[in-house]
Amino acid sequence: MAVAARESTLASVREKIEAGERLDFEDGLTLLETDDLLALGELADLARRVRGVGDEVYFVQNLYLNQTNVCRVKCKFCAFAATRKQPHAYTLSTEELVEDAVRRHEATGFTEIHMVNGESPHVDFAFYLDTVRALHEALPAVHLKLYTASEIHHMTTLSGLTHEQVLRELKAVGLGSLPGGGAEVFAERVRRLVAPGKEHPDVWFHVHDTAHRLGIPTHCTLLYGHVETYEERVDHLLRLREQQDKTGGFIAFVPLAFHPENTVFERRGWRHTTGADDLKMIAVSRLLLDNVPNIKAYWIMMGLPMAQLALHFGANDVQGTVVREEIFHAAGARTETEQKVEELVRFVREAGRIPVQRDTLYNELRRWD
Ligand code: SF4
Repeated sequence: MAVAARESTLASVREKIEAGERLDFEDGLTLLETDDLLALGELADLARRVRGVGDEVYFVQNLYLNQTNVCRVKCKFCAFAATRKQPHAYTLSTEELVEDAVRRHEATGFTEIHMVNGESPHVDFAFYLDTVRALHEALPAVHLKLYTASEIHHMTTLSGLTHEQVLRELKAVGLGSLPGGGAEVFAERVRRLVAPGKEHPDVWFHVHDTAHRLGIPTHCTLLYGHVETYEERVDHLLRLREQQDKTGGFIAFVPLAFHPENTVFERRGWRHTTGADDLKMIAVSRLLLDNVPNIKAYWIMMGLPMAQLALHFGANDVQGTVVREEIFHAAGARTETEQKVEELVRFVREAGRIPVQRDTLYNELRRWD
């Protein structure tokens, strides 16, 4: 794009942001096409402030679990799934899963469990209900953020129940919120290429719409950096914005960069997204998603230095995690979790922002002014 044309495009976006006007499809496209990365970051940060999102940068102490990697779907970008007969296939019983979670909670005190799984055809709906109930009974103060929309849909095919019935039953035994996975890219062209076995995007929206109406908050995502075009990225973001206008239940948006390792795409020579593309996606997400309060720069995937930069491109959350650690530490030794918190705090402070440890629903637990 010629410099003058680019400057005038960014100037018109700035005017809209300052006037509190909504950006449209064309704006989204020209923002993704610009190579003026610093101007884009400055605009996204302006949008954050104009829309009342403060200087706090949030992180959460959470535990990632996967109960089974057995999956019938075979998405082409997935390096996790296995068939039941493969040697690395596993399915943990409820007891094994809960015992492990309780042990790790004693060591780390996490406040959230984030769990997603393969869609195993060899379990039934009771497997899910028993797991949620047992986790909730064992760790009642821990928020359970479990199961993608695809998994919820899978439970309807296993049980013959509707999305609403499945969600009501899960909520009754302790489900707190849904993660945002399974969205991938909504454009049908892309879905046919990368996840032909996955249900239609309307199903993803129906599950989230139903969850919001039942008072279950959810998260939303976009998996970018593979076969999708800029147009398809913008279309995806605008569909999420439209849903949020209707039900308002998305707590946060997470742009997920595609990782080609151990997928067919790696054999075809695909590479990781670049830092510039990652920062662009954070900025354009903040600019277009004017009704989603929190944009996550997921440091585990981006790396801490890039996540730190993303805080100046519209992000206000770095996620956070409880790292796997041994239960028995040498006396007096700091846990890996404590070290990770210190590191996150330092990175956020050095970016000129205020670190805040939050719970899943963005209630403040601890603050470093
Ligand atoms: S549904 Fe999930 S686990 Fe199964 S293949 Fe697709 S991404 Fe992998």
